[in-house]
Amino acid sequence: MPAFHFREENRLKGKGRKHAIETGVEPLSAMTRRASRISSISESIFATVTRWAVEHQAVNLGQGFPDFDGPEWIIAEAHAAMRAGKNQYAPMHGTRSFRRAVAAYQKRFYGIEWDPEDEITVTAGATEALFCAVLAFVEPGDEVIITEPFYDAHHADVLIAGAVPVCVTLHKPDFRFDPEAFERLVTPRTRMIILNNPDNPTGKVYTDEELRWIADVAVRHDLLVLSDEVYEFLTYDGARHIPLASLPGMRERTIAVSSTGKTFGMTGWKIGYAMAEKGLTDAIRAVHQFATFAVNTPGQHAMAYALGKLEEYLPVLRTLYATKRDLLFAGLCRTPLTPHMPRGGYFLVADIPESVAAGDIACAEHLARHAGVAVIPLSPFYASCDEGKRMLRFCFAKRDETIREGLARLERVPPEAWQSLA
Ligand code: PMP
Ligand code: GLN
Repeated sequence: MPAFHFREENRLKGKGRKHAIETGVEPLSAMTRRASRISSISESIFATVTRWAVEHQAVNLGQGFPDFDGPEWIIAEAHAAMRAGKNQYAPMHGTRSFRRAVAAYQKRFYGIEWDPEDEITVTAGATEALFCAVLAFVEPGDEVIITEPFYDAHHADVLIAGAVPVCVTLHKPDFRFDPEAFERLVTPRTRMIILNNPDNPTGKVYTDEELRWIADVAVRHDLLVLSDEVYEFLTYDGARHIPLASLPGMRERTIAVSSTGKTFGMTGWKIGYAMAEKGLTDAIRAVHQFATFAVNTPGQHAMAYALGKLEEYLPVLRTLYATKRDLLFAGLCRTPLTPHMPRGGYFLVADIPESVAAGDIACAEHLARHAGVAVIPLSPFYASCDEGKRMLRFCFAKRDETIREGLARLERVPPEAWQSLA
């Protein structure tokens, strides 16, 4: 047997170890092989909590997806497209019908004109659009300003690009940012700002004044803004979504991202899109053509049709979600948690009572295991402060029965069980 010493950092187990002992060749463990750009990337909190939900048969108010089906008339359109032979690759940048439908609604609703040929790219969900945009414009070592609590992909994409996420905190109770603190974060290395409006997880809908202030910073410092607007149509109580690209000076420096998964409650179809002026779009497509190349064809045909029906569909959508939000909010008020009323999106965050010593992760795990309710702890969405340790995120894109059952289970947690949570 050849003489052999294992390297400290290379913790081989099982077959790998046996192979190394037999051959004298020490293969690297999968962990050691990882490229440094993903050294701090681990399982997302959504996947972890969904696993807890399955393990403990918990009511899942965690991961953000509707537990009811999307509109039947869109499914019928997809069937029709499949039967009409729309089953081969779509063009790299998306079907013409879908890109035209996006351009048309952006003009109808917001007065923004995007050229469907050169300025709209269909991606595998908003997730891919965000990824392509960050890789297309951010160099290793650059800084990217993101709001915190962040959407996990915003933070992860910056890390994967080898860049540095710099967080501006949205503070409770209304999740406003401190403009002076924001501008102090801009340095000569800042390349981009990533915004989420309406915001996941806080439910914040940015005001005209806040957006104008951010636009002014972006223009003065010549920054790009990646504006994640996947919840653009989910606004309540008269709150109005203002797309960043509609503000003066912003069309040429905004990459706007949205998703039919959110608008039509069909997250599994993974049809998202990026909108940006031609030069920026060329760069996004340079990444997209080698990331996924093209996105599923019949789904794009069906969603093109659906986008044409937005005016009829949106009042139904908003009423549905506003009712669910109110149901969840009112129910949480009957528990020791303190919910914050969201004006957009399909999440709300709630404060853990001060009497509970446990942090958010222990609290969420305890609720999944003992109360049978899965929710998302908020600290994984913070990098610069620990405000998230006292908060949990609830998703209300769920059937009323699911929300009611989750609430009933939370209400059954005896007061002393909350106190003893540690
Ligand atoms: N951005 C935000 C803020 C989201 O909440 C989500 C999904 N929850 C996405 C992007 C991803 O969207 P998609 O499912 O279309 O990839
Ligand atoms: N975006 C969804 C959420 O916020 C989850 C998507 C995912 O699991 N990556 O819950």
